[in-house]
Amino acid sequence: MTPTVRQARLDPRAPLVIDTHELGRRPGTMLSFQRDVPAPEDLGNGVIGVSPGSPLSLDLRLEAVMEGVLVTGTVVATATGECVRCLDPVTEGVEVDVQELFLHAAPEEADPDADALPLMDVDLLDLEPTVRDALVPALPFQPVCDPDCPGLCSRCGARLLDDPDHSHEDNDPRWAALAGLTDQLAQADARSGNGTATAADPAGTKEETN
Ligand SMILES: [Zn+2]
Ligand SMILES: [Zn+2]
Repeated sequence: MTPTVRQARLDPRAPLVIDTHELGRRPGTMLSFQRDVPAPEDLGNGVIGVSPGSPLSLDLRLEAVMEGVLVTGTVVATATGECVRCLDPVTEGVEVDVQELFLHAAPEEADPDADALPLMDVDLLDLEPTVRDALVPALPFQPVCDPDCPGLCSRCGARLLDDPDHSHEDNDPRWAALAGLTDQLAQADARSGNGTATAADPAGTKEETN
């Protein structure tokens, strides 16, 4: 079986490709690495993310080990998106820990069940997949501008934060008709829900057959 490894020719100009030449290869040697780099594409989850080109602050420790280079540290960035309730812009600072061992060479006997470790391209290592794997899951799936954001009026879309006493008079026949329809749908839902629950209730069935 061919061991699955991540290996690629790395572009030394890519912002998250780190040159470890200065570190050398003697195990135990360490180097601290602080740098602000432009964020790559696709560093988000659809509702919030780090804009491509915005700064990623890397604060890393590079350590030479027998097998390669161990990278440990933190990445700080600013994510932007929209509040899921009111659609206002949301800006959120995000800080994640990263740790990854980059190998000089593929292991001769790779464990096929283990996650493949990334390979170095001579002295270069690519931190981008590591940063993405750490940062994207740390982003909120439901970002809100404020935990108490009341969102938008379901009728007219007004921002309830701007207008907390917002209300609609129920004297418009079109709204009344819509409200009536909504009630009917809700009742139909409740009926079908109850029917299923009764049919699936084994206790009720037993009482009838006894
Ligand atoms: Zn909001
Ligand atoms: Zn309204």
